[in-house]
Amino acid sequence: NSLQIAEKLKEELIKKGLEKEVNVITTGCFGLCALGPIMVVYPEGSFYSMVNIDDVPEIVEEHLNKGRIVTRLLYQETVDNDSIKSLNKTAFYEKQKRVALRNCGVIDPEKIDDYIAQDGYAALGKVLTEMTPEEVIQTMLDSGLRGRGGAGFPTGLKWKFARGNDADQKYVCCNADEGDPGAFMDRSVLEGDPHVVLEAMAIAGYAIGASQGYIYVRAEYPIAVKRLQIAIDQAHEYGLLGEDIFGTGFNFDIKIRLGAGAFVCGEETALMTSIEGKRGEPRPRPPFPAVKGLYQKPTTLNNVETYANIPQIILKGADWFASMGTEKSKGTKVFALGGKINHTGLVEVPMGTTLRTIIEEIGGGIPGGKKFKAAQTGGPSGGCIPAQHLDIEIDYDNLIAIGSMMGSGGLIVMDETDCMVDIAKFFLEFTVDESCGKCTPCRIGTKRLLEMLEKITKGQGTLEMLDEMEALCNYIKANSLCGLGQTAPNPVLSTLHFFRDEYVAHVVDKK
Ligand code: SF4
Repeated sequence: NSLQIAEKLKEELIKKGLEKEVNVITTGCFGLCALGPIMVVYPEGSFYSMVNIDDVPEIVEEHLNKGRIVTRLLYQETVDNDSIKSLNKTAFYEKQKRVALRNCGVIDPEKIDDYIAQDGYAALGKVLTEMTPEEVIQTMLDSGLRGRGGAGFPTGLKWKFARGNDADQKYVCCNADEGDPGAFMDRSVLEGDPHVVLEAMAIAGYAIGASQGYIYVRAEYPIAVKRLQIAIDQAHEYGLLGEDIFGTGFNFDIKIRLGAGAFVCGEETALMTSIEGKRGEPRPRPPFPAVKGLYQKPTTLNNVETYANIPQIILKGADWFASMGTEKSKGTKVFALGGKINHTGLVEVPMGTTLRTIIEEIGGGIPGGKKFKAAQTGGPSGGCIPAQHLDIEIDYDNLIAIGSMMGSGGLIVMDETDCMVDIAKFFLEFTVDESCGKCTPCRIGTKRLLEMLEKITKGQGTLEMLDEMEALCNYIKANSLCGLGQTAPNPVLSTLHFFRDEYVAHVVDKK
């Protein structure tokens, strides 16, 4: 729809003879998905929201031709006493800090010059000409950057391990197989700022001593795939990928591999197995990928959002990055806000921002004046956070302490009308479907768990069943081979813990 609006805009500008005066730039996502399609007119920054294709002639004639803002289309939050205030002063953006998303909605993702104009590839130039690989790794360690894909492992440590293993060939991989229901931050970066991922992967390649990178991206993201390929081709043309980059003798290239939609392929060893052309199943660890990863060679794998932070860390310094966030979780985190919330969309906030700030201020609260009941973080691997923890400062460790996890950053809000047993069942159905079947605790255990949940929701459950479910959850967590099974019971455990009364009501009511 947005692309059709852009085409219509170009047509109307030609009709009015304004095509040389008005430059139309197609960007990636602004974050405010609830208000799309969006059009911003510069220099004053009029922010038109929910634009319809039929609105375009009016915008061109009134605003671009006659200089009169079409007030009915303005995002009302940007209107202040009849003047336009900056988008950064609105409730949705004011408390955000955009590092990973800094170019999304700003540059044309299909033009490398736009990226370069925003300091693009300056970090790669800096590491290749001014830093040793060890200094790059030390910078990552000092920054405190942890993996944004879910587990939160320190990026610098991952790189250090991969560098420490000698081999004739090493690999750098990018996990763009975003599969959590409700998460779309990686997609947004790939569609809005693909060069940042290429630049960061080349930096990782230099740091660990790799010359080949792979981006494993969902085939369900065709725009992201297209823009990545355009970015790779442009980087080749500019000599920023390929041989002898910046005349330093450093060689690095990147290939795209498409995932076929299996959630388990987001697990690092399954992802590498899938790139190798085999069935995407996890492998036991050790050996870890830093020792034997892709094609049995030392490999480092990071996700899209992790990479999106790296060029800025190189340019602005580890201290700058470490100055944001909490003691053990540095920098910012992107969350995909969804569910019962007014401002659905993508938000990026410093680690340590409270859940209340994200939901009530940035997210604009719950529609219809309903009461907040819970927020699910971490998708099917995470847990439900009840109202008594709304003031929790969100970081990796605080979320784990209350039985949830960061995951990739999906944040689904539920109101007083939602049934928490149904929510647990929804996520468990997803993991049962996506279990690869390789190990018994996950393949059979999650299925038995789901059967119990189904009985409970049909009013056929017993109180004893709740204890049995809890025991089975703990067994699956302790004995599954990979992260999918080890975290699959989390939605059940956290709802059993915080909302046991709802389970009991299902059991007792139907007796
Ligand atoms: Fe496959 Fe589940 Fe075992 Fe992971 S835990 S290997 S997804 S069966």
